[in-house]
Amino acid sequence: MAYELPPLPYDYSALEPFIDEQTMRLHHDIHHKGYVTGLNTALDKLAQSRESGDFGLVQHYERLVAFHGAGHFNHVVFWENMAPAGSGGGGSPTSDLATQIDKDFGSFEKFKAQFGAAAKAVEGSGWGILAWNSAAGALFTFGAMNHQNQTVPGSVPVLMCDVWEHAYYLKYQNKRADYVDNWWNIVNWEDAGKRFEAAPKA
Ligand code: MN
Repeated sequence: MAYELPPLPYDYSALEPFIDEQTMRLHHDIHHKGYVTGLNTALDKLAQSRESGDFGLVQHYERLVAFHGAGHFNHVVFWENMAPAGSGGGGSPTSDLATQIDKDFGSFEKFKAQFGAAAKAVEGSGWGILAWNSAAGALFTFGAMNHQNQTVPGSVPVLMCDVWEHAYYLKYQNKRADYVDNWWNIVNWEDAGKRFEAAPKA
């Protein structure tokens, strides 16, 4: 069964002025769709390999599944992690996520500083990530490379900030730090809190 591109949970212009409409259209309709197509193509190739018994390119296709699969699922989290400023976006976390952030980072302000620094410091394309790891019983921040590198496997994403240039370059050009600093105005903490609550706590 093929994966499909889900619609945005708001209008393309809903995150203005922090993320502009044109960026959202290109980012969702072209870039995110490309990952969905890439994932489906790679999975089709693996299905063909199982039929033929020829796994000569299995390493290649598994790499594509990791890249495009992470690209697809990361963007689903990213879109839902945001909401219009003042209408679900901005502010600070509440309930259990707020408590866990205080426990693992010292305070919300210290968490923001660490997450923002990690996102800004990504070399090339990647993501700033807040994730829960049940084995550790703790929240971690990561500055992930591409879509899938430099995280602890098993970590459940709670909050993800896309810092690929396609996420901000039309409006912010080379000023990734300004984009990341502005991004807090459209963070949907209710969605992040739900992701934390749903993550296995074993
Ligand atoms: Mn992206």
